[in-house]
Amino acid sequence: MRLIFLGPNVAGKGTQARELAREWGVPQIATGEMLREAVAAGTPLGREAKRIRDTGALVPDDVMVGLIAERLRQPDAANGFILDGFPRTIAQAEALDEMLGEIGRSLDAVLFFDLADDVAVERLRGRGREEGREDDMPEAIARRLELYHHYTEPVVERYRATGKLVPLHAERSIEQVANEIDEALELLDEEAVA
Ligand code: AMP
Repeated sequence: MRLIFLGPNVAGKGTQARELAREWGVPQIATGEMLREAVAAGTPLGREAKRIRDTGALVPDDVMVGLIAERLRQPDAANGFILDGFPRTIAQAEALDEMLGEIGRSLDAVLFFDLADDVAVERLRGRGREEGREDDMPEAIARRLELYHHYTEPVVERYRATGKLVPLHAERSIEQVANEIDEALELLDEEAVA
């Protein structure tokens, strides 16, 4: 199963991806998490990512594409993966298509965690207070939402046009969203068999 989880921050992508990845035995490839690990390890990528991320900006496409290309080559991703936080721009989506094309694979579905801005802002403020994440501070929150609309919404539309987009009601509870995902994947399975 090759899935993308798409949507604004705090839409619950990470929580659902973690659970589903465990259930299916495929890796959850969370780019934000990978960058945080690089920051903690103090690698050159980590130092660059920290500087960019603390302002709420996006890490350059070529850096992200390189990171994902390497990750998808790992043996544990051979039979499937859940991409969480990538692609975030059209250029990243195009690069991903190319990578999958080269290995003769395609995406099964793109789960879209649809969340209104005001709900996203409320949740981000809450996380900023609880975890003190630099990029959850008020100025960074506004910037991240702006970037989401500018760069990532076109990615949503791109996948909508391919018929692979599965919209979810991300403002609902974790359990309700998990049920929606299960139903959507069952439907996909039936379509694949039919
Ligand atoms: P996240 O935890 O997914 O919100 O990611 C944290 C930060 O990492 C983002 O605000 C970006 O600076 C950076 N980042 C994560 N994924 C990407 C991506 N696909 N493209 C560019 N920057 C990213």
